[in-house]
Amino acid sequence: MVKVDVKYTKLFINNEWVDAVSKKTFATINPQDETVIAEVAEGDKADVDIAVAAAKKAFHRYSTWRTMDASKRGQLMLKLADLIESQAKYLAELETLDCGKPVKISEEEVYHSASVIRYYAGKADKILGNTIPADGEVFSMTVKEPVGVCAQIIPWNYPITMLSWKIAPALAAGCTIILKPAEQTPLTALAVAALIKEAGFPPGVVNIIPGYGPTAGAALTHHPDVDKVAFTGSTEVGRLILGAAPAANLKRVTLELGGKSPLVVFDDADVEQAAQIAHEAAFANGGQCCCAGTRTFVQAGIYEQFVAKAAEIANNRSVGNPYDDVQQGPQIDQDMYSKVLGYIEAGKSGGARCVAGGNKLGDKGYYIKPTVFADVNDDMTIAREEIFGPVQSILKFETFEEVVDRANDTNYGLGAGVITNDITLALSFAKLVKAGSVWINTYDHVTSQTPFGGCKESGIGRELGEDGINQYLETKTITLALPKIPQL
Ligand code: ADP
Repeated sequence: MVKVDVKYTKLFINNEWVDAVSKKTFATINPQDETVIAEVAEGDKADVDIAVAAAKKAFHRYSTWRTMDASKRGQLMLKLADLIESQAKYLAELETLDCGKPVKISEEEVYHSASVIRYYAGKADKILGNTIPADGEVFSMTVKEPVGVCAQIIPWNYPITMLSWKIAPALAAGCTIILKPAEQTPLTALAVAALIKEAGFPPGVVNIIPGYGPTAGAALTHHPDVDKVAFTGSTEVGRLILGAAPAANLKRVTLELGGKSPLVVFDDADVEQAAQIAHEAAFANGGQCCCAGTRTFVQAGIYEQFVAKAAEIANNRSVGNPYDDVQQGPQIDQDMYSKVLGYIEAGKSGGARCVAGGNKLGDKGYYIKPTVFADVNDDMTIAREEIFGPVQSILKFETFEEVVDRANDTNYGLGAGVITNDITLALSFAKLVKAGSVWINTYDHVTSQTPFGGCKESGIGRELGEDGINQYLETKTITLALPKIPQL
């Protein structure tokens, strides 16, 4: 077992490390062997109140942060990105310890996080308003201002990635932040907090409060001095937040929630290539991915061939110690492990044909065999509900019109994919499917520049790209009366 030094376990408020007011701590668990990695300070309402006050002070109009040149804000962010990269190996090992994903993937995510911070660093001094040809003898313009104090609540499946998607646009916009990492994975957020301090961000600009959702998370959502909540997680909690946050003080809310994304493979596709793309779509991050392409629709002409290939690829997927060169580590925790195994049983008892996996792997840690079900129909539980584990459902279809309707027959609308060499077919599908992102002949290709988010019950708002920073800005219109111009 790789030995990783856990350096930070306290709350990070005002650039200081502090215990929770209650002095309570909670254990963060290693999903490889179910042992306790560390005890972490457990933030609650009292700590949230202190952190929000710090963020509010840091957002005061005369504060160091608010009076700083926008270009300097960008430079601080560039420094942070450099520091994150300089610690890439350590951060990756820490991430793997806490959430069990293969360490080489953790490392890619650390570099991705640095790239997101760099992308938004470049935007900090390019936030532009407009001049408006308003009616009347006036000069009108808009300026874009930071929304204010932002609460950011993130999940456990991509801890450092989600942190970067949240803090980078907020910092570029000039907001201040209280971030709550998921209770399962607080460690990399705290390690990044140390780098935020080292980079030179003023106290109170970023505060990190580990803790539980119904306590620390809810306190943030209800807080009257929080101007915006940005949340990534389950649709169930997203609904709670949407109910609570605007009711408290009409704060802004952006939500990135669940999915049950379709990936459609047409008859003309290269079966091997398509099965590989579909495999990654379903199994990336052990299936613990909100935009996972879990409903694989395959056209009748290549259906059996595709099923055989999908089973072969899944059977060859390497699952094991995430510090080794494997494709998949353990699932995150006991709850999710039991839940996913329950869905696998539902697939079997519901009549789907299990062609790969179908049970747990080993007796220690939360390992599950990559599982493929064929002959899935639209009404089965495994075709309707988000499983969040290594389970692919393959469904047969005949026509374009039929598959568009079936792909859209879900409450979710996060991602969608299509595999074909017929560009007209691909773009027609892209136009008709209701989803925030559509990938053609690839899947889950997400970069700093490309907006990401969902339709329907998959969320509100977008992250990344130009859209991402707009969620942290308010438009102010300024209109100046001019002297009346004499008519000729
Ligand atoms: P998942 O099912 O992926 O664990 P959750 O939606 O339960 O997703 O959790 C995502 C994040 O939301 C975590 O940081 C969690 O602590 C937080 N959370 C859970 N419940 C609440 C709540 N009632 N209010 C605010 N945040 C919450």
